[in-house]
Order: sequence, then C-alpha cells, then structure tokens
Amino acid sequence: MAIQSIRLFGDPVLRTPAAPVTDFDKELRKLVKDLTDTMLDAPGAGLAAPQIGVGLRVFTYYVDDQLGHLVNPSLDLSDEMDEEGEEGCLSFPGLSYPTPRAIRAVAKGFNMHGEPVTLEGTDLMARCFQHETDHLDGILFIDRMDPEQRKLAKKAIREAEWFGTPAPTFKLSPHATHGKAL
Ligand SMILES: [Zn+2]
Repeated sequence: MAIQSIRLFGDPVLRTPAAPVTDFDKELRKLVKDLTDTMLDAPGAGLAAPQIGVGLRVFTYYVDDQLGHLVNPSLDLSDEMDEEGEEGCLSFPGLSYPTPRAIRAVAKGFNMHGEPVTLEGTDLMARCFQHETDHLDGILFIDRMDPEQRKLAKKAIREAEWFGTPAPTFKLSPHATHGKAL
C-alpha cells in the first residue's frame, strides 16, 4: 500500500494542466498503484494524478464495482445532459453539489502497459470520466456548476475547516506545562 496525501482546493497543482504520459514504465505502474490505493482508502469513486501532486495525465476509477485506470484520456460526450446529479471531489472534503454533466461518455486512452483502451460509461461512470479528465486540464467541478450553485459552493469552501489553514509553525512541548500558558 502506498497511500498518498490528497491535495486540497487552493493547492496550485490542481489548477495546472497535466502532461501526457510518454514512458509506460515502472514509475507509471507505481503511480497507478498509488492512485488506486489512495482512492480506495479515501474512499472515492475516482482520483486523478494531480490530486496526489503528480502532473501526468492518469486517473483511476472505482464505480459500480469496476476498478480501473486510464492514461492520456480523451472523451466523446453525449449531447444529453444530467443537470441534477450530485457530485463531490476528494479535493473538497465534505462538499457535494448538483453539477451538470453529459449522461454518456466514451473515454479513449491507454492502460499502464501502453495498450489502447476504450471505455464506455453512463451516469455515474460517465460523470467520473468527465470529472477526472477535467482534473488533468486543471478544471474543477466548481467550474462546471451553474452560477447559483457555484456561489453556494464557494461560500461553503470559505467556511470549511480544511480551507486555507496554514500549517502550524510551532511544536508542542513534550513536557507537561501544568496548565500554564507559555
Ligand atoms: Zn475531484
């Protein structure tokens, strides 16, 4: 198991477009394993490499008991939309909002061995492919919401305890202070 820490909204890596994978090597297989382990541990339905700080076009998914990954994805989307489906993101803990997405998606790309793969998804699977491919372009689900939902989401983000809290710079004394302020 190689569980990585998940980057939260505000981290610039989530707004940085990821680079195509060119080497289908041992490093890539380790990345797919780290993404899979981290996604299952969270737990989440999908995870994109930038969410663990890696700027490569790779994501994993675990939807309807189907576990997989895709490298260098490109999508063909249906015109038909699901306007109401709730969506969340591991980089925005605890928040989910109706987010418009195409109902069907065909995702083409490669597996970690460099073999071409075509995946077809509807509903949640299609939503997952779109959400994760967006991550690889630096696009986040708040960008896909209608303006009213986005306003609500941004307010909730500002109020979320995980947002914008700087890392503590002090160390706790290992010695008991018997209630005295220091
Ligand atoms: Zn996400």
